[in-house]
Amino acid sequence: MKVGIVGAGMVGSSAAFAMVMRGGASRIVLVDLDEKRARAEAEDIGHAVPFGAAVRVDAGGYDDLRGCGVVVLACGVGQKPGETRLQLLGRNAAVFRSVVGEVMRVCPEAILLVASNPVDIMGQITQRLSGLPAGRVIGSGTILDTARFRWLLGRHLGIAPRSVHGYVLGEHGDSEVLAWSAARAGNVSVGSFAAQMGAPITDEVRARIDTGVRRAAYTIIEGKGATWYGIGAGLARIVAAIAADEGAVLTVSVASEVLGVRDVACSLPRVVGAEGVVAELVPELDDSETEALRASAEMLKRTVEAVGM
Ligand code: ADP
Repeated sequence: MKVGIVGAGMVGSSAAFAMVMRGGASRIVLVDLDEKRARAEAEDIGHAVPFGAAVRVDAGGYDDLRGCGVVVLACGVGQKPGETRLQLLGRNAAVFRSVVGEVMRVCPEAILLVASNPVDIMGQITQRLSGLPAGRVIGSGTILDTARFRWLLGRHLGIAPRSVHGYVLGEHGDSEVLAWSAARAGNVSVGSFAAQMGAPITDEVRARIDTGVRRAAYTIIEGKGATWYGIGAGLARIVAAIAADEGAVLTVSVASEVLGVRDVACSLPRVVGAEGVVAELVPELDDSETEALRASAEMLKRTVEAVGM
């Protein structure tokens, strides 16, 4: 599958690199306002191809995106220290107006994968600008927050994060919901697993993991200015699920009705395959998690309405 990436900054380039290392794409085309940057990234990433999957990596313009099965939108301006994702909104919405038009002109049949923040709002804006069905415009949503949750739980339990099934739902941002009550390790609840391993999830452990997930972006931005490897790998995971028509369950953001909040884009576990998102589920949550998810969806709904799109 040919994959386009608009925005060859740290996130777009890391996604391309991750695709080269894990496979899933046959061709990758990097497009950026800064053409020199796109060319340099394509060449640098191309040098990893002999050690990775058989992918052709090029830089190009919008016309070179013809025939793409997926176009990743990672363009825009990055999050500044102390800036919330929602404050980024105005700056990135302007960029998307022109970019989505260009992409739709050359590949109206592509699935759009939105990575720019605030990703839930940018995804919903993209869906409206493109006119595509909701399931074909996928925001990376909480795929990264879910990875952070699984990683931290895996470390605490002393097991592989891949054996931890816990989801972060709602907004990719401050109002996100860690679905503790539905979290499993193997096929038992994480609480039971932790007790059996002699590593109980005390209030202190739970608070530490919660903060670790919720504050990760802020901490990393403080240390190195931005985050890119985790999200790059997450984007490559979504692309692989589409390319192989996997039916993988991933927490991604798509416009739908969430707990009675209509037409709002936020993350739920969703089934991802060749046609994009084909099904979604609300995990079994306790009352406080359900309320927190509804509040997160309502907040996003208010924000998207405030943008007037
Ligand atoms: P991030 O950390 O989110 O990747 P960067 O600032 O590193 O942020 O990357 C964003 C990229 O998006 C930059 O390379 C920038 O040149 C690019 N970009 C900004 N506006 C546009 C646009 N209108 N079209 C294409 N690329 C754009």
